[in-house]
Amino acid sequence: MSGKTFDVVIVGAGIVGAACADECAQRGLRVAVVEREVVGSGATAAGMGHIVVMDDSEAQLALTRYSQQLWQALWPELPVDVEYEQCGTIWVAANEEEMTEVRRKHSFYAERGVPTTVLDAQALRRLEPNLRVGMAGGLLVTEDAVLYPPCAARFLMDRAQKRGAELRTAASATQVGQGRVRLANGVEIRGETIVNAAGAWSPELIGAIEIKKRKGHLVITDRYPGFLRHQLVELGYLKSAHSVTSDSVAFNVQPRRTGQILIGSSRQYGAEHKDVDQEILCRMLQRAQEYMPALGPMSAVRTWTGFRAATPDKLPLIGPWPGDKSLFLSTGHEGLGITTSLATARILVDQITGAKPEIPIEPYLPSRAGKEFLHA
Ligand SMILES: Cc1cc2nc3c(=O)[nH]c(=O)nc-3n(C[C@H](O)[C@H](O)[C@H](O)COP(=O)(O)OP(=O)(O)OC[C@H]3O[C@@H](n4cnc5c(N)ncnc54)[C@H](O)[C@@H]3O)c2cc1C
Repeated sequence: MSGKTFDVVIVGAGIVGAACADECAQRGLRVAVVEREVVGSGATAAGMGHIVVMDDSEAQLALTRYSQQLWQALWPELPVDVEYEQCGTIWVAANEEEMTEVRRKHSFYAERGVPTTVLDAQALRRLEPNLRVGMAGGLLVTEDAVLYPPCAARFLMDRAQKRGAELRTAASATQVGQGRVRLANGVEIRGETIVNAAGAWSPELIGAIEIKKRKGHLVITDRYPGFLRHQLVELGYLKSAHSVTSDSVAFNVQPRRTGQILIGSSRQYGAEHKDVDQEILCRMLQRAQEYMPALGPMSAVRTWTGFRAATPDKLPLIGPWPGDKSLFLSTGHEGLGITTSLATARILVDQITGAKPEIPIEPYLPSRAGKEFLHA
C-alpha cells in the first residue's frame, strides 16, 4: 500500500467502513482500508443487527428506510452466515396511552410509504404468545429485518476486495488528513480522499468531532426454537434512546436463526470500560422479564458490551470535514449503524464522486451549521 496513491483511503473496517469500501470499489475507485484489529471487530461485532426504520426525525427515517431498501435489494446475494431474516418488528404497547403512540406511528409511517399494521391485544397475543398477558397491542413493521453484523461486514469487505480494494489489518492509524494516513509503524498511505470511519474511536483521529461513547450490553440465550418470531421492542425504547443524561434500559429482544434469543438493551454515557456492569445487566434482564416472564428460567450463554458512537443530534456525520478538503467523515451512527451502513456508503461516495444522492444529504453533513459538536 505504501508508495501508491489511492483515490480513497478508509480508516476502520467496521460495517460502515466495509460498506464504503465496497461502494467505492463498485464505482471503480482505487480504495484502501486500514483496520487496527480485524474486519467487523468494533461496535459491529457487538451490535444486535436489527435493520429497523426509525421515526425520530424525518432525516432519520429517510436514511433508515433508504438503507433498509438497499438491504432488501442485496438480500439474494447475502451468504447464509449473514442470517438475514425479514422477521418484522413489533413495537409493544403496554397500555392504552402507548396505543395512542402506536396509532401516531402507524399514520407517520403510512404517509412515508412504510407498511405497518396496528395489532390489538388479541392479534399481538396470536403473533407472540410468550409476551406477558395484558399487553394493550402493538405496531407490526413488516419490512424490518435482522442479520448477523460481523458476517455482513465480512461479506461487504470480501466483495470490495474482489472488486480491487486493498485491506490492511492489524494497522493502527495515528494521523489522518492532507491526503495521508499515517500508521503507528510510521508508514504513510496516500489518498486523494481520506475517510474516517473509525466509529466510536473517530475523535482519536480528529479531536474536534464531538462523538461520545455510548455503552450497550447484550445477552444471548441457549436455543429455544419457536419461542419468539419477531424483533420485539417496547415503545418506551424511544425514551431510553433519547435519554442523554442517565443510564437506561429497555425491553428489546430478537429471534436468531439458531433459535437463540438476543436480549437487549442498555445505554450508558461515561462508561469507558468494556467490562459487563452487573447492575445495569440485572436491570436490563428484569425489564425483559417484565415483558416476557418465560425468559426468566432460560439459560444465557454469553453476555457482552459494545460502544455506540453518539453525536449530540443523534444523526451520523457523513461528508467532507471543513478545513481539510481531502478529509471525509463516515461516523457517529450510534445505535443504527448496521441498518444505515449501505445508505451511508451510497451518499458518502455520491459526495466523493459528485453524483446526485437519492435522498437529501444536508442533515448528515459534518458542516451542519450551528451544531455544538463542530469545534473546528
Ligand atoms: C449493544 C449494541 C447494539 C446495537 N444494535 C444495533 C442494531 O440492532 N441495529 C443497528 O443498526 N445498529 C446497532 N448498533 C449500532 C451499530 O453496531 C454501530 O452503529 C455500527 O456497528 C457502527 O459501525 P462502524 O463501522 O461505524 O463502527 P465500528 O464497527 O466500531 O468500526 C470501527 C472500526 O474502526 C477501527 N479503528 C478504530 N480506530 C482505528 C485506528 N486508529 N486505526 C485503524 N482502525 C481503527 C476499529 O477497530 C473498528 O473495527 C448497536 C450497537 C451496540 C453497541
